Amino acid sequence: MTAPLLDLNDGNQMPALGFGTYKIIGPDAPELIGSAIDAGYRLLDTATRYDNEVEVGEAVRASSVPRDELFVTSKLPGADHGFDEARRSFEGSLERLGLDRLDLFLIHWPQPPIGKFVETWRAFIRLRDEGLVSSIGVSNFLPGHLDRLVDETSVAPAVNQIELHPFLPQNEQRVADFRLGTVTQSWTPLGRRTELLDRREITETAEKHGRTPAQVVLRWHLDLGAAPIPKSATPERFRSNLDVFDFALDDDDLERIATLETGKRIGGDPATEVQL
Ligand code: NAP
Repeated sequence: MTAPLLDLNDGNQMPALGFGTYKIIGPDAPELIGSAIDAGYRLLDTATRYDNEVEVGEAVRASSVPRDELFVTSKLPGADHGFDEARRSFEGSLERLGLDRLDLFLIHWPQPPIGKFVETWRAFIRLRDEGLVSSIGVSNFLPGHLDRLVDETSVAPAVNQIELHPFLPQNEQRVADFRLGTVTQSWTPLGRRTELLDRREITETAEKHGRTPAQVVLRWHLDLGAAPIPKSATPERFRSNLDVFDFALDDDDLERIATLETGKRIGGDPATEVQL
């Protein structure tokens, strides 16, 4: 089973659900990532900051699935904002991955206090125009950051990867992304190791549909039009996380899940956070 494809605003397509690789690192990682590909995952989400681009690249190169059927995302770390720095950083990612192009490259954080995300974006546009990366996007960009990119470069990101889960449904941010034709991709879609998957609103909905709590939460993302990238280092879990394309939540389920909103972030606040 593979995830269906979503249309991006640049004419490319991206799997609607992908494999998060944060913390999947070390000698066993390529084999684990390879089994996720065998299970049907086609989108692999890495970042320079995860320190596992080498392992992800090894899995891609060793896979029997052709490169052009895989979708590899990496992200530019905060320390590399700037026009020339972004190009050098991108080349470093490609080298560590051992690939000659990326499917998607994201600015990992906007870092407003540093004030360089627009010139970084100009470098991204150049990389895309040169064919080194098929699609370019951002991560953790607030509506005002997106507006600045579009006002100053006329190029809207293909993807905005943001923290999104039932505790933080990000309604206004998703409208801002949608307005630009930018696909919202959900990080920490399962709420990482919070109590989300144990909450009654989720477990009882799972029982009703004969599904697991994680499947209910992932289906919720898809129903919002967002593209989740769950991480699991457990084969049984990552297989079932992909098995979410043959059932639907009803209005009662969605209303119940909506009551879980707290508005609290698990990760940092993009308005102020500086990550190097
Ligand atoms: P997550 O996917 O919400 O949750 C991962 C946790 O859930 C792991 O502890 C995993 O355990 C567990 N899990 C997975 N499937 C499960 C299931 N079916 N049942 C029960 N538990 C399950 O959190 P995340 O890793 O923070 O986020 C996902 C990906 O988003 C990351 O890997 C990364 O690629 C990306 N990300 C991006 C940013 C950004 O700033 N752009 C920030 C954070 C994350 P096991 O591994 O033990 O199975």
